[in-house]
Amino acid sequence: MMPLISSTSMLQAARQQQYAVGAFNVHTLEMLQAVVEAAEETRSPLIIQSTVGTVKHLGPDYIAAAARVAADRTGLPIALHLDHCTDFDLIVKCIRAGYTSVMIDASMHPYEENAARTSKVMEVAEAAGVNVEAELGKVGGVEDDIIVDERDALLADPNECKAFIERTGVHTLAPAIGTAHGIYKGEPNIDFDRIAKIAELVEAPLVLHGGSGIPAEQVKRAVSLGMAKMNVATELRIAFSDAIKDVFAAHPDENDPRKYMVPAKAAVKRLAIEKMQLCGCVGKA
Ligand SMILES: [Zn+2]
Repeated sequence: MMPLISSTSMLQAARQQQYAVGAFNVHTLEMLQAVVEAAEETRSPLIIQSTVGTVKHLGPDYIAAAARVAADRTGLPIALHLDHCTDFDLIVKCIRAGYTSVMIDASMHPYEENAARTSKVMEVAEAAGVNVEAELGKVGGVEDDIIVDERDALLADPNECKAFIERTGVHTLAPAIGTAHGIYKGEPNIDFDRIAKIAELVEAPLVLHGGSGIPAEQVKRAVSLGMAKMNVATELRIAFSDAIKDVFAAHPDENDPRKYMVPAKAAVKRLAIEKMQLCGCVGKA
């Protein structure tokens, strides 16, 4: 039986070989199955993610059970990650339910407070063999219920990134480098020099947040510089929802969930495969 694995070794391998692992936010069983099928078809390592909102909606135990089935059925390296969590107790709850990776997002606090909160999570996570991701600086835009005013979105300082990892021991780091959550209104303004500088000072795998709508060439460049995990959230929800809307536009009286879930699942799978190809993780499982 293949268990869920911590994302640490998976992401270290990706960083060393200059590809990224796709980390997909799922909200329903069909979305989870779709990204698993995409990974299976392309022999890709996979990180299944859920937001705090989805954990509260479905229950961490239900999500973890479904992810365990995926790992066992496919034999693929699959990690289950809690995205953007500010609540220590919920992190502990998810680890107990079987999550193998968690993000403590204390980036809205000053540096000292962020480091202290991250260290506290590290203590419980290390004991459980669970990967911890932290964020420095502020990624712009909207992620579930966390809203950062785009003007106040502050980018991560490379020296602070180095000091932060030395102090906390955190496994993976999401530095704010100019991406935003949600879909971009204009061109994204990614600070590639900053990514390069951070990657020069930090060996830990770096995480690219706000990946939805970044042009392919820019994603590839960020990955080649050290971004080893790419989060995909908004685009996946749009693909899923648009496919369902299409079914209802053609058949307003449809009442068989399978009739709209099957095309929705197919749309998510197609997009996940595209993202895996973009990340360069195809065949790396
Ligand atoms: Zn994010």
